[in-house]
Amino acid sequence: MAARLMDGKAIAAEIRQELMVSVAAFLEHGHPRPCLAAVLVGEDAASQVYVRNKQRACEQVGIDSQLHRLPETTTQDELLQTVGNLNRDNGVHGILIQLPLPSQIDETQVLDAVAPLKDVDAFHPTNVGLISQGRPRYLPCTPHGIQQLLHRCEVTTAGRHAVVIGRSDIVGKPMAMLLAARDSTCGPAVANATVSVCHSRTADLTDITRQADLLIAAIGRPKSITADMVKSGAVVVDVGINRTDEGLVGDVDFAAVREVASQITPVPGGVGPLTVAMLLFNTLSAARHQHAHQNGESPRS
Ligand code: NAD
Repeated sequence: MAARLMDGKAIAAEIRQELMVSVAAFLEHGHPRPCLAAVLVGEDAASQVYVRNKQRACEQVGIDSQLHRLPETTTQDELLQTVGNLNRDNGVHGILIQLPLPSQIDETQVLDAVAPLKDVDAFHPTNVGLISQGRPRYLPCTPHGIQQLLHRCEVTTAGRHAVVIGRSDIVGKPMAMLLAARDSTCGPAVANATVSVCHSRTADLTDITRQADLLIAAIGRPKSITADMVKSGAVVVDVGINRTDEGLVGDVDFAAVREVASQITPVPGGVGPLTVAMLLFNTLSAARHQHAHQNGESPRS
């Protein structure tokens, strides 16, 4: 029987609806409207689409957004100056540096320059350290979105074997940390997994993926995960976004794996919309943190 589709688009819409209510309640308490500032350097077509989508999503839930466009030739100092200005601006709660950056820019130095309280991508070493210690301030958007998706599709990970393919700082590594943690924003049932992390140097990848109750592919290579790599009844989450002649495809051979898995995400319409929804979640959270920081209160208020 074909796997059930995990409809990321519909679940992201549900989360945005919840956020709209939360933003309205935040404003009713006299707090300032949350504001996300996106920094876009250069003319990369995909980046322009991503930033536009994020701005539109902000608008839908009542979050203000700013776009700071800088030319392809921007220097490291100019970009650091922009980040510094946004760090000092009390009207800006979240800062998003759209990646990739042009080759003359040292990406790590720029991401490290974002004030940790405004780091809505959760890339700053302070925020990564807090996650690794099990006391997160902000969660990285894609792994957090996947946890929300699993929860809302009634997938339990506690005590199960989760195999994450990919070890990037943006997806693979934080995904493994969140799944292995004792608890999550959706409760302990969507944490407490036994996690294996696979990567480009993993030997006998198929042997490992076939043991997975939950298989998460974040590789960036079209259709790398074939049906023979998946255990019958496994839950399969496809993070990959690959532009091919066939259009956008994931890392999973969807048509074939669908016949083996119990639940599966499509591409597009799977993980992507959740990433954007969790960025909005983090922006509201950042506004709460900064308000609390300025007033010496708990960020939960
Ligand atoms: P990355 O290039 O930084 O990391 C890819 C990882 O895959 C590496 O850790 C590498 O070791 C591993 N890998 C490469 N070849 C492999 C192989 N043959 N076998 C096993 N592992 C292999 O990429 P990333 O930033 O983690 O992104 C991964 C994919 O997810 C990309 O397609 C990206 O576009 C997509 N992505 C989607 C979203 C979303 O919201 N849906 C968000 C971020 C990234």
